[in-house]
Amino acid sequence: MSDAKNYSGGCHCGQVRYDVTADLSTVVACNCSICAKRGVLWTFVPAENFALRAGAEDLVDYQFNKKVLHHLFCRHCGVGSFTRGISPKGQEMVAINVRCLDGIDVAALKPVPFDGSCL
Ligand SMILES: [Zn+2]
Repeated sequence: MSDAKNYSGGCHCGQVRYDVTADLSTVVACNCSICAKRGVLWTFVPAENFALRAGAEDLVDYQFNKKVLHHLFCRHCGVGSFTRGISPKGQEMVAINVRCLDGIDVAALKPVPFDGSCL
């Protein structure tokens, strides 16, 4: 987390808002069945780096396959700005949809391909 910075982010309509401390030097483009359709760029943070500020009651949980991950999305605008899960080491993690962070120059990021087809 050497390049970790504080960001704010959320869904499109603004109901869901969060603060997060994340290192955007590591951004992942996953090829799993849902990411392939969503085109999300992810960064992963421990749950303690993430604070949901608004919209807990506006989130809908979508799960599939092994149902390990909680693909949360806003029930008003449909945008999934983060996903909750447990790391292989048993740590609570949050996957941040980097495209949903405020003021990010997405074109300047260097996404690393991730083979998530097993998820
Ligand atoms: Zn929304």
